Amino acid sequence: MDFDYDDQNIFAKILRGEIPNRTVYENDYALAFEDIAPQAPVHVLVIPKGAYVSLDHFALEASADEQVGFMQAIAEVCKIADLKDGFRGISNTRAHGLQEVPHYHMHILGGRPLGPILV
Ligand code: C5P
Repeated sequence: MDFDYDDQNIFAKILRGEIPNRTVYENDYALAFEDIAPQAPVHVLVIPKGAYVSLDHFALEASADEQVGFMQAIAEVCKIADLKDGFRGISNTRAHGLQEVPHYHMHILGGRPLGPILV
C-alpha cells in the first residue's frame, strides 16, 4: 500500500510551529498536545514527529526508536494527566475510521468513565 503524506496537513503545520498548540509533553520523536475540541476532561493527541499518515503507516515504516519514543510519550501523558483510573486510546484511520487529519495521531481520552464510543 502507498502512503502519501500531505505536508500541508494541520498537524504538520503544528510540528513546524506554524500553528500554536497547547503542548502537554514532547520528546525527540513525538509531540502531545490538547485537542482543540475535547470530548472528555482529558483529551490529548499524541503525534509522531515523522511524516506518517496513519497507524499502519507508522507501524510499517517508523524506526524502532520512533516507535519506542512514541509509546513513551503516551506513557508520559498518562502520568502527567493522572490517568491511573484508566483511559481510552483511539487512532481513527482513513475513511472508514473517520480520520480527519492525515497525520498519524493517537487520541488519549480520560478523566471520567467513558461511554461506548468517543471521537
Ligand atoms: O481522528 P481525527 O482525525 O478525526 O481527529 C482529529 C482531531 O484533531 C479532532 O479531535 C480535532 O478536534 C483535532 N484538532 C486539533 N487541533 C486542530 C485541528 C484538529 O486538536 N488545529
